Amino acid sequence: MKRLTNAGKIVVGFASLVLIFLLFFIFWKIGSPEKISSGKNLDKEERIQVKGSHFPGIHLETVTKETDEYFYALNTPTIKNEEINDLIQSWLMNEKESFLKEVDAAPSNDLQSMLNIHLTTVPITDSIYNFIFEGYKITGGANGFTYYQTYTFDISEGSLFSLDDFIDLSDENIDRLKEIILKEIDDHPEISEGILPDQLEESFNQIEELKWSINSENFSVYWDEYEVAIGAVGAIELEIPLDQMAPLLTPKAREYLDRPDLDEGDDPQITDKQPIEDLDPNGKYVALTFDDGPHATVTPRILNTLSEHHAKATFFMLGNQVEYYPKLVQRVAEEGHEIGNHSKTHIDLTAVDNDRLNEELNDTNELVKDITGYFPAYIRPPYGAYSDHIINQATELNQPIILWSVDSLDWKSRNSDAINQEVMSHVSNGSIILMHDIHETTADALPRVIDNLEADGYKFVTVSELLKWQEATGAGPHFGNYQ
Ligand code: ZN
Repeated sequence: MKRLTNAGKIVVGFASLVLIFLLFFIFWKIGSPEKISSGKNLDKEERIQVKGSHFPGIHLETVTKETDEYFYALNTPTIKNEEINDLIQSWLMNEKESFLKEVDAAPSNDLQSMLNIHLTTVPITDSIYNFIFEGYKITGGANGFTYYQTYTFDISEGSLFSLDDFIDLSDENIDRLKEIILKEIDDHPEISEGILPDQLEESFNQIEELKWSINSENFSVYWDEYEVAIGAVGAIELEIPLDQMAPLLTPKAREYLDRPDLDEGDDPQITDKQPIEDLDPNGKYVALTFDDGPHATVTPRILNTLSEHHAKATFFMLGNQVEYYPKLVQRVAEEGHEIGNHSKTHIDLTAVDNDRLNEELNDTNELVKDITGYFPAYIRPPYGAYSDHIINQATELNQPIILWSVDSLDWKSRNSDAINQEVMSHVSNGSIILMHDIHETTADALPRVIDNLEADGYKFVTVSELLKWQEATGAGPHFGNYQ
């Protein structure tokens, strides 16, 4: 056995030597494109060199051309997805054409112009990759210029990622991201001494234009030469250790980057809930609940009315709407209202498979948590449709299912008088009232409904407050809480 191992080592050793030689040969050819031309005519044409890729699914060619005036060498990757290929190739084509224009415009002298675009490939998973292009351009004897372009995408899905897929870019997080970047710059005097603060600020103001890459160790930011610093600093690649970025990472990022240690809450149970207030055991309370929002115009109207009456309510939101109106979600939470999970897409949860069920619930939970810092307190399944299985899932998540005891029928009547009539004729102490913050008629009806309920001595509290009060007092309808 030992002999075999030794023989194996020799074979591997020899193979490595051959490989090193081959790689050396390839790099030597790519690094010195002028040596490629072997015939008189060939130097007028583009040459393509295929470089073996050790990333499965990524094919790399180097396109070179040399004339008396210029030469260029462009690392050109292709993957299985045409859209991503088109995007990258049109960028490369654009770089090449603008270089050739600059060559034409440059004063004619003996100095050969050059464009070299080099690709660094940084894998995140087996199918997610960062492409970092570093370009170096020098024309007509001017100073050279180094610049970057970055792409992060999923080869198997054919999807391109944007920064907010990995970093949560809510307003306060953008400020934190700036602080983290500034601190990292400060730690590198060779960069910080040449920084142009106004230009750096300008770059932060266009955060979605930031050039970046990410892997399980670092988050990196790239700036072209002269972009945010004086020429002496050159182009900047700023590497930030990933643990410093931990609070800003999206749940997806933690999953892709396989850094569960960066997840503060490893517990799958929903424990991070908004604090609630104790109520008067002898008081009269109702919980107003609004489903299907947030809505761009109705939700703000309802919030204004609630705030005029110092009334609190519970909003059962759809994850899809949350994604569209994060500022409204933030406002709902900031004004002391409670948020519940009404699924992501308003699908009948009893009609979907388990994966879809989890997606509907978890995506909405994460979206709300990312914006407000708290997970939704409850789940209200669309159409009030649930099964034993859904109850089990909700129990596992520590998110009770909550329905309602008074249906305002606002979705049906779309009439302010009818809504008022329906609520006032069915309300009792401890009622949970169902409304929808997607109909203008509901917003029209609310001031009167609240006035009438107030005249009867009711106060308006969140579902959590109401249920805690019910536990202590035994008042109110007992249903909908399956914990
Ligand atoms: Zn609904």
